[in-house]
Amino acid sequence: MYRLEDLNPVQCQAVEHREGPLLILAGAGSGKTRVLTYRIAHLIAQGIDPWNILAITFTNKAAQEMRERVYSLVGSEGRGLWVATFHSACVRILRNEIGYLPGYSRSFVIYDSGDQLAVVKSCMKELALDEKKFAPRAILSTISDAKNKLQTPDDFSRRATDYFEQKVESVYNLYQKKLIGNNALDFDDIIMLTVRLFRENPEVLAQYQDKFRYILVDEYQDTNHAQYALINLLAKKYRNLCVVGDDDQSIYMFRGADVKNILDFERDYPEAKVLKLEQNYRSTKSILQAANAVVQNNTERKEKSLWTDNEDGQPIVYYVSENEHDEARYMAERIQRLLNVEGRRFNDFAVLYRTNAQSRVVEERFMREGIPYRIFSGLKFYERMEIKDILAYLRILHNPADQVSFSRVLNVPKRGLGESTLEKILDYATEQEMPVLDAIMEANYIPELQTRAKKPLLAFAQLMQELKTLAVEESSVTRLVEEILKRTGYWDNLIGDKSPEAEARQENIREFLSVTAEYDEKADQYEETVEVEGMEEAVRPGLAGFLEQVSLVAQIDTLDQGDEAVVMMTIHSAKGLEFPVVFIGGMEEGIFPSSRSMLDPVLLAEERRLCYVAITRARERLYLSYAQQRMLYGRTQYNRPSEFFQEIPTQILVDRDPIDPPTKRMQKPRPATVSAGSTTSEVSPWRVGERNIGNPIMDAPGLDYKVGEKVEHAKFGKGVIVAIKGEGSSAELSVVFGGEIKKLIAEYAKLMKL
Ligand code: ATP
Ligand code: MG
Repeated sequence: MYRLEDLNPVQCQAVEHREGPLLILAGAGSGKTRVLTYRIAHLIAQGIDPWNILAITFTNKAAQEMRERVYSLVGSEGRGLWVATFHSACVRILRNEIGYLPGYSRSFVIYDSGDQLAVVKSCMKELALDEKKFAPRAILSTISDAKNKLQTPDDFSRRATDYFEQKVESVYNLYQKKLIGNNALDFDDIIMLTVRLFRENPEVLAQYQDKFRYILVDEYQDTNHAQYALINLLAKKYRNLCVVGDDDQSIYMFRGADVKNILDFERDYPEAKVLKLEQNYRSTKSILQAANAVVQNNTERKEKSLWTDNEDGQPIVYYVSENEHDEARYMAERIQRLLNVEGRRFNDFAVLYRTNAQSRVVEERFMREGIPYRIFSGLKFYERMEIKDILAYLRILHNPADQVSFSRVLNVPKRGLGESTLEKILDYATEQEMPVLDAIMEANYIPELQTRAKKPLLAFAQLMQELKTLAVEESSVTRLVEEILKRTGYWDNLIGDKSPEAEARQENIREFLSVTAEYDEKADQYEETVEVEGMEEAVRPGLAGFLEQVSLVAQIDTLDQGDEAVVMMTIHSAKGLEFPVVFIGGMEEGIFPSSRSMLDPVLLAEERRLCYVAITRARERLYLSYAQQRMLYGRTQYNRPSEFFQEIPTQILVDRDPIDPPTKRMQKPRPATVSAGSTTSEVSPWRVGERNIGNPIMDAPGLDYKVGEKVEHAKFGKGVIVAIKGEGSSAELSVVFGGEIKKLIAEYAKLMKL
């Protein structure tokens, strides 16, 4: 049962607000998401049918969490409720209604960025556009931008002005034709086509407007134009739209998000009730102060006062590392320390970074030290070759017209069916307007096909027909995948390959089978009821559901906070989440803010908001670090500390973690000229040019150990130093105590020289 007493008065108002538009504009950690959850529970308790409620969140993970929260508040009363991301809600709508759009059918597949790029490249080839002159990725991202603005190829061509755009125009046109021909949607189509569906079919729109009488949207500041249009269409009739967001956390401008959508809400809905939440429940005072201090430097923002009743907490700890390895070592060492001293668990920690490339070194360090971690960065797992191969098989079985997937599997494993055979097949299928999988059944009629290709092709066609039948009959995706692996020879091929990569591939496939197994298990539980023409029908999601889930899953969505592992992710993926202890690495000019954004005030402001998001993920402790020298993308860089750092007041910044015992240096302060990082310094220790930004503890006296030296440790007893990495106080000493090697940090080991 939910209790309104668990909310503050303004939150309560938001939850109890019944009819009409409602805007909640509030800072990080003020309970926006909690209000949404309670509001859903409250609506249901007031007798609103959950079937009439649509809640939109930013990631599948957030959706799952919200669904669980609501269920825990209202129990089975919540059945029928839609908690979805924009994409998953739209896919669900399109699965039922896409027939209204000419050229598409319900078995459509969803192309990911790799598939999209393949299509763009093939368009460019046909149009004789040189990939060296026009980067396919740049073209793809222009197409994507256009779609996010709901521009069709025709709209786009009307607006195309410069030479590049004119080239994009021709690609966009052909690209879209190919997608339709393959019965495929790309990610942006999912939203765009739903908007088109509603605009062109008022009766369908009316049906959904009547269904979704209450609409709630989290993270509204990150909606793009297409999403905005969609929500407004749905909410137009009943106007029961509740949106929550924070303009200071708008961080998806690069994907077409427009913060105006939230700022102009009152213009769109003049009768809107507007509420502001000002109390932060998540973070300590220090953390909140740091976050506020940073974001304040953005000029164009709605001023907010965010305060907290939480305790002051620990100051923010910073570390100037020599290089990225030293930074990673520091993080690992801090984690161990907090585990030991505060009894923390691995899943209390999150390591956040600006770019994915920063994770590798930290990963390596964690692996070496046996720190379990989970990494959430893009679609890594699903981008792997073998996973894409298997998925391609599943997709072509599901949608026999999918030429991209067909092209991928035709000769995998090798069947002696090469490029030219493929081209002839595709030409034939296109000419005959036949699904490609059916076209190959007619191998004997395909013109110019080499005789020696016919036999293997017919064998392949036969095999695929059998698998197709199985795909229809077999409800377990796991079984289907196992059959594919076996009957196509894919697995044997992999087993036969003795390279180390092949081994990793086998592991990935095993991991994939655990994904399918998990799905099958859930599918058993969640046999859901779907409304088909007004009738409820029980449907097992099966293969279609699985492919949908995979297409929509961002890696972040597999995040399970219950797992005992440190979480590593980009700041973008950390949105909406919270962790007791947060590390933010790479606080350097050129990294964060990124070099691209440093010269452009608009981009810089977005980076600063990103920094605000990062800091406000932390509940209790925050560690910031900066490397004086960093190797990234194969180049060594010497960066200055991030300007965002310098915006944090020095009173709440320390270079010595308060959980560490005081050392000699603390008892006997060093002369002011070298105490660059001391907490008493009035100027930020990071300020370049005014102060030495070197790490003062690096050259602390009395810590110059030598290999071979005999030492004594309070707990481990007598030992011998066998290796030293690094220098001074942060050096890592390998010491043998009674036959066992221990790795210790010079500064904290407090070894006595014998
Ligand atoms: P973000 O902007 O990062 O998405 P948010 O505004 O959505 O943050 P929530 O995640 O809803 O904030 O809440 C932050 C934390 O504060 C959560 O742990 C939540 O349970 C807690 N919280 C929110 N409101 C209250 C309250 N009235 N009493 C106690 N705890 C609260
Ligand atoms: Mg939230």
